[in-house]
Amino acid sequence: MRIDILTLFPAMCEAVLSESILKRARGAGLIDVFCRDIRPYTLDKHHRVDDSPYGGGYGLVMQAQPVCDCFEALCAELGTRPHLVYMSPAGQTLTQQKARELASLPHLALLCGHYEGMDERVIEEIVDEEVSIGDYVLTGGELPALVLTDCIARMQPGVLAADEAFEMESHYASLLEYPQYTKPPVWRGRAVPEILLTGHHENVRAWQRRQMLERTLLRRPDLLETAELSAADVLYLYTFPQSDALPFLFERLTDCVEQYVRTQKKVSPTSLQRKLKTDYALAVRLLDALEKRGVVSAYEKGRPRDVLLHPEQGET
Ligand code: SAM
Repeated sequence: MRIDILTLFPAMCEAVLSESILKRARGAGLIDVFCRDIRPYTLDKHHRVDDSPYGGGYGLVMQAQPVCDCFEALCAELGTRPHLVYMSPAGQTLTQQKARELASLPHLALLCGHYEGMDERVIEEIVDEEVSIGDYVLTGGELPALVLTDCIARMQPGVLAADEAFEMESHYASLLEYPQYTKPPVWRGRAVPEILLTGHHENVRAWQRRQMLERTLLRRPDLLETAELSAADVLYLYTFPQSDALPFLFERLTDCVEQYVRTQKKVSPTSLQRKLKTDYALAVRLLDALEKRGVVSAYEKGRPRDVLLHPEQGET
């Protein structure tokens, strides 16, 4: 993959791109990143690239001519037109999903604004989309472009030690990562969770999964809405009272329980409670929801041995 950063401050970008993993990735040809200076493209004899805004207001605005000429020169040299992203606080907020989408393109160009921003006609003329790195304003688009480049670079095959490494990380599957530990096993009286020292691969994976679920529920419950969750995941989340505040999670749980109920002849709140290892009230809520969906009928509430049937089963 190739990324071209169009900027008034190429040295600022090169400084970051010439360190650590990005440097190694570029050196090994796993990703090509180039910085292109916009200033040489100005036709102004004083090399100006900005001017005061029409209509008044603070600061200076980058002019359309040097920016568009710079991008068009890049396209001419490449013989192709890269997807052009303008780094802008007014853009769509960068997420792991957005970075993944952009990482799948063969060629990307990132346009960095500076001063008070960019003449709007640049955006109309050449920009494909605007991306923001968050709801705050920086002095220029260089840091945002580097943030996006870093995020995309580490998704390229071979950049990280193991290709799947980033797939276990926070946000990749709409879940936060589990806590990580390294040597020593005890530090300032704090011990590494025992399970991690057992060497039991399967149990460790299960523990890590539960930690991811718990962390996401407690810190970023909004992410769970788009996470891929198994029935066991959802049931685990329901061992925490915080789950009750998430209507979409109840819907997911109801979906899982519906699948189970459809395989049964009879289900009662008591049997469901036992099956899910949950409390009676939740089992009743779930069966109420399934009754509304028309999955169960003949539902007599409030009795310990009340019986629930599929509509198609008929009463026994
Ligand atoms: N006047 C502009 C506004 O209010 O939207 C802000 C201009 S900002 C000072 C200068 C440049 O920094 C922008 O053109 C953009 O390229 C970049 N920038 C600042 N904050 C950013 C953010 N959160 N995400 C992406 N780019 C940002």
